[in-house]
Amino acid sequence: MTEIRLHNTKTRRKEVFEPLDPQNVRMYLCGPTVYDRAHLGNARPVVVFDVLYRLLRQVYGADHVTYVRNFTDVDDKINATALARKEAGAEGTLEDLIRERTEETIGWYHADMDALGALRPNFEPRATDYIGAMIAMIADLIEKGHAYAKDGHVLFRVRSYQNYGALSGRSVDDMIAGARVEVAPFKEDPMDFVLWKPSDDELPGWDSPWGRGRPGWHIECSAMSYELLGASFDIHAGGIDLQFPHHENEIAQSCCAHPDGGFARFWLHNEMLQVEGKKMSKSLGNFFTVRDLLDQGIPGEVIRFVFLQTHYGKPMDWTAEKAAQAEATLRRWRGLVAGIEPAPSPAPSVVAALADDLNTAGAIAELHQMAGDPALLKASAALLGLLEDVMGAWAEAPQVDLSAHAVALSNIRAKAMETKDFSAVDALKSALMAAGVEVRMSKAGVELLPGAGFDASKLPDV
Ligand SMILES: [Zn+2]
Repeated sequence: MTEIRLHNTKTRRKEVFEPLDPQNVRMYLCGPTVYDRAHLGNARPVVVFDVLYRLLRQVYGADHVTYVRNFTDVDDKINATALARKEAGAEGTLEDLIRERTEETIGWYHADMDALGALRPNFEPRATDYIGAMIAMIADLIEKGHAYAKDGHVLFRVRSYQNYGALSGRSVDDMIAGARVEVAPFKEDPMDFVLWKPSDDELPGWDSPWGRGRPGWHIECSAMSYELLGASFDIHAGGIDLQFPHHENEIAQSCCAHPDGGFARFWLHNEMLQVEGKKMSKSLGNFFTVRDLLDQGIPGEVIRFVFLQTHYGKPMDWTAEKAAQAEATLRRWRGLVAGIEPAPSPAPSVVAALADDLNTAGAIAELHQMAGDPALLKASAALLGLLEDVMGAWAEAPQVDLSAHAVALSNIRAKAMETKDFSAVDALKSALMAAGVEVRMSKAGVELLPGAGFDASKLPDV
């Protein structure tokens, strides 16, 4: 069997991955809060851990992997939208409007992640369907001395869990010094975090032993992973921004509630995404959603390819240039595999690259070597969720015939080689690039490919 090695944040080392039960390999990914469209950074964990899911299915069998990704549908931003709609005269109760908003955003999320070629997880639990399990877990934590109720709130007693901070490698005292911890009258210690909080009439709430209220965010992942995957499971994944406090809090809750379980054995974290070398932010004007890119005509498969060119453990930079190159590569590969049946299994070199801590960049480098064997290329690319028939509609769009431009450019170039005056070559090349054409000139000849921003109306006359 293929040996998979993964970088485990918990031990800060690359370790051989051996599942607790090879018949049922279990992984959990923190999912979205469904209050709006997913921005591009939110899509990165979905795509990289989709490749992990595909690899596990390849190695252990498609029916022997259980993948859970939650929907957080209890959140103040969801409430705010629902309340604003109600105040603007929308019909229905606040609960109806909240449900309507979450249904709407879950639908968007599915459409956007489907467009990126991400397989749907086996379970997509919604927090609101697991309130009972959360209340039971909170009551158990109080019973065991790890939590306490005060003024309608329930707080987790951080200092009752000795290993708190082990995942992110920080001590509780350092965290207090460095973090903006909320000091509140109902807290015994500023580090304690909310398991349950009271709801007023304007907010959704559920009856509990501590009054009408709603759960904190962290407890939902602990409760849902326990219900669906058990007290110990194989892999917990998420963005590095969730490592502290969210993942520390999940560990504290789960390990205190189920001390014999051990919770997740491997922790995988993806690094953040930047845009054109800058942090994505609304104030810089480079904040965009997956849907924004799809609407600009950038195919989901191209977005996926760009993501996978960078290892998940490194920060990745989204650039328009990378998107144009990815589109050209995928078009070329799609031309090679059109009408070809995939080989029965992917190339061992691609499996080996992915088994080495999801080296997707290395796997793509291997795909580049397979132009001579389209059947193998197609089977191997599928392990990365690329070149699949369902994703290919964009590449079937009518192609513009650039052969006349290619001939003209090659003729001008041949003449320039004699006269040593390349100004006409440069002028035509610039005009083509201005129309979004990718120009490749080599000894073998001239190749022109429509890039991501291609606009046929801007093509120069030749
Ligand atoms: Zn989580």
